[in-house]
Amino acid sequence: MELIRISALLDNYIWLLCDEDKRCVIIDPAESQPVIDILAANQLIPVAIFLTHHHHDHVGGVPGLLIKHPELPVYGPEETRRKGATQIVHEHETIEIAHFSFRVMELPGHTLGHIAFYQAPHLFCGDTLFSGGCGRLFEGTAEQMFSSLGKISSLPDDTLICCAHEYTAANMAFAKAVLPDNQTIHNYYQKIIERRENRQATVPTTLQTEKKINVFLNCHNIDLQKNIGIKPNSISLSSVFQQLRAYKDQF
Ligand SMILES: [Zn+2]
Repeated sequence: MELIRISALLDNYIWLLCDEDKRCVIIDPAESQPVIDILAANQLIPVAIFLTHHHHDHVGGVPGLLIKHPELPVYGPEETRRKGATQIVHEHETIEIAHFSFRVMELPGHTLGHIAFYQAPHLFCGDTLFSGGCGRLFEGTAEQMFSSLGKISSLPDDTLICCAHEYTAANMAFAKAVLPDNQTIHNYYQKIIERRENRQATVPTTLQTEKKINVFLNCHNIDLQKNIGIKPNSISLSSVFQQLRAYKDQF
């Protein structure tokens, strides 16, 4: 199976997962043209479009792709029905298509209907988990997002986090501010800065790495709690998450 990452708009990534027969699914097409170009250049046969949530920078390419490939099924949550989804999917449902078998995970927080598509080891998680960060709470509560991140954390450590944005450098600058004495975070920040200076992508990343460097997966960390002004273990972890997310919004 081959994973292809396509840059789109300012900092979006569109993902393609291809099987050995060159059939592929297209995840969160922000735009159509860069996808059409890659399909042609690699002689790939698209078999489906997957949408994680309804935001424009995840669905904007659907009409253009359907002009070229009108037969393509579009899978997504209810909130994407008006954005072109033809197959509405829910928690635990399995999408069997070509050689793929994707499991749907409902991950509310960034939007209320946000979902992810999981085909081990690939997790297409849209704007829920980013490398070093997580999505903003536009519709859901902190508790919902905290629980969604917990669901992702329960996947195997070798899970490849295929998120929809290149936000890692800014996220690691925030992580460094929250845990200034953490050497692992410091080293990862340096590595990311170097990669970005060389115009290299920083994703996909693994869940194992994220557990070490992503502050939003480390709300239990006592130093983190102290550094954002919380008396250690005095409030629930979802409340720690809420304060951390609010702090990042101001950062
Ligand atoms: Zn979004």
